[in-house]
Amino acid sequence: MVNNNHHKYEYVDEPSIDTELMCSICNKPFVEPVSTPCDHTFCSGCITHWVEKKRKSCPICRLQIKSSEEFTKVSRPLRNILDRLQIKCSTCGQTGLTRDSLDDHLKKICPKMTVSCPGADIKCPWTGVRDELPQHVPICKFESLRSLIGPLIIENEQLNTQREQWWTEKQKLAEQRKKQNIQINELTNKLSTISEGKSIEDN
Ligand SMILES: [Zn+2]
Ligand SMILES: [Zn+2]
Ligand SMILES: [Zn+2]
Ligand SMILES: [Zn+2]
Repeated sequence: MVNNNHHKYEYVDEPSIDTELMCSICNKPFVEPVSTPCDHTFCSGCITHWVEKKRKSCPICRLQIKSSEEFTKVSRPLRNILDRLQIKCSTCGQTGLTRDSLDDHLKKICPKMTVSCPGADIKCPWTGVRDELPQHVPICKFESLRSLIGPLIIENEQLNTQREQWWTEKQKLAEQRKKQNIQINELTNKLSTISEGKSIEDN
């Protein structure tokens, strides 16, 4: 199904979850639930996919649905109940998580998530799972050279910015020169017509 986070977690004791909270398209608890004009609720991803790719009607009562613009977000209490459902992280197997804490867990805690070295900003190419990081950092060649590499990288970035500024300046000057050349041409043309007129008068 379209619920893109589904593979990252499993529900704890799924059979005990209230059937009122289940989407009848994916048979899982709602993710970002929306209601149809006929007051049926589905995951936003599920019903959007259904209406766009399958039928322009409600999967439960068959009432016509013209487009996904007719959906409305469900009330906050229902969303809160769903956010507090107990889950287990599929990446590391940790339980005791709630659905809304998964992102934070993956980004900051999950020991089996792939992370990069803190020295990525000074070009260390190392990536690995988070719980291997403490072994890498003490032996990281880039980190050990940070005091040397760091300033060089900053200087290099400054030079790049300067080069870009110069380039814009150069463009501006070229533009100005072009305009001046046009003006000069116009003036010389005028002058030559004037002087031609004069020479006719002189004769
Ligand atoms: Zn669904
Ligand atoms: Zn319906
Ligand atoms: Zn995890
Ligand atoms: Zn490193």
